[in-house]
Amino acid sequence: MPREHIILACTQCEERNYTMTKNKRLHSERVEYKKYCPRCRKHTAHKETK
Ligand SMILES: [Zn+2]
Repeated sequence: MPREHIILACTQCEERNYTMTKNKRLHSERVEYKKYCPRCRKHTAHKETK
């Protein structure tokens, strides 16, 4: 399975808060998740970054 490690960064403060793997076959484009950001101290959208 072609799995790739990605970093999720907060879209508001750009802090890199999460790492995860994603399945390239299911998500060929950039993914976005709602996650808790410790710096913003709230849930924000986190986008895939390198
Ligand atoms: Zn943040």
